Amino acid sequence: MYQAPRGTSDILPQQQVYFKHIADKASLAAYLYGYERIDTPVFEDFGLFSHSIGEETEIVVKEMYVFKDKGDKVLALRPEGTAPLCRAYIEHGMGSLPQPVRLYYFASAFRYERPQAGRYRQHHQFGFEAIGDADPALDVEIIDLAWQLYTSLGIDQLSLYLNSIGCKACRPGYVQALKDYYSPQLSQLCPDCQARWQRNPLRLLDCKQPACQEKAVQAPQSLDHLCVYCRGHFAEVKRHLEALGLPYTLNPRLVRGLDYYTNTVFEIQLRTSSLALGGGGRYDNLIEQLGGKPTPAVGFATGVERIIGYLKEHGIPVPPSPRPEVAIVYLGEAAKSDALKLASELRSEKVAVLLAAGGRSLKGQLRHAGSLGARYVLIVAEDEMRSGTVTLRDMSSHEQKSVPRGEIARFLSPKSQPG
Ligand code: AMP
Repeated sequence: MYQAPRGTSDILPQQQVYFKHIADKASLAAYLYGYERIDTPVFEDFGLFSHSIGEETEIVVKEMYVFKDKGDKVLALRPEGTAPLCRAYIEHGMGSLPQPVRLYYFASAFRYERPQAGRYRQHHQFGFEAIGDADPALDVEIIDLAWQLYTSLGIDQLSLYLNSIGCKACRPGYVQALKDYYSPQLSQLCPDCQARWQRNPLRLLDCKQPACQEKAVQAPQSLDHLCVYCRGHFAEVKRHLEALGLPYTLNPRLVRGLDYYTNTVFEIQLRTSSLALGGGGRYDNLIEQLGGKPTPAVGFATGVERIIGYLKEHGIPVPPSPRPEVAIVYLGEAAKSDALKLASELRSEKVAVLLAAGGRSLKGQLRHAGSLGARYVLIVAEDEMRSGTVTLRDMSSHEQKSVPRGEIARFLSPKSQPG
């Protein structure tokens, strides 16, 4: 028997209500902050991701779904949403629009990770990006948007972690300081970190191995190596956060897993878990790196499954999806076409109806309608239809009455009717 691939899941109807609820809140936030929706393809050129996320990052080296199509083109399933969005920004000449261009996306993302709670091979993200302006106020707008989105979903007990990892000018000096610090103790690091020292030294700081974490405590901090511009930018970000009353904690070991970040980086976590609900930061060089003009930008992405995990764990209810309150059953095969016709008429009046189907007896159909939660059942009989009436049965009181076919909606509860 086939099963969904490991680390993926079907989104069953009872899960859809969570997705819809989160999508409603995220699109409301997008509207309130002026972000417009964009959708990009599920797969892109492999090079787009390797050049932006970084050839040596864990995502590119270990986690990407890469394949050749029948024309021998090397493609990859999207592991994240920012690089495709920047590709689209360049491709569609959005640089000529008033800047910043504010965009948001809702997309599935694919990473070959070891599946565990909150970590899947296919997951979903909402992402928000403000492209085309270096103003620190935009960093804070994005952080505030993320914070308000979580709050609107009933998620409290949040921690905001903040760091600055510098820019083209000051990062190389910092990376060198980091390498110098780790160099004499390389043999005491885990094998992954020994490779990171060569390939991706910033990631030495967020290794989860206890021995490596111990070393990271004393490691040089990027905040001590910032250039004048980055120091000024970061000071402004903190000042605006304080003005908004958004509490933050500086975390000198926060580096994020993607190479394109510059200056501000942040993550929002639950106080009760070390998994990030969402994170983001500035990526001021990415668009230029992908062939566009120098264009500063800042963004944020949140995992949807992690939000759902929280809502379920804390018993936070989400609005149920509306179901038809009216079912139509029929008396004998001859009335079946009439039942179909009546269902169609009611739907054109925006009344949602479920049609009994299959070969059940009238009693069987009524029982079935009850089990589907119908509040009313319309019983269609051939002779009654000819005289222009149907029988309306109230499923809770079991009362039945004959009602004119054209006036059915009047006898239903307001919830069943067009709204
Ligand atoms: P990242 O691009 O790694 O910062 O991811 C952004 C957000 O997506 C994270 O904060 C998580 O909420 C979510 N996320 C990332 N990877 C996974 C995964 N493998 N499974 C579920 N959610 C994920």
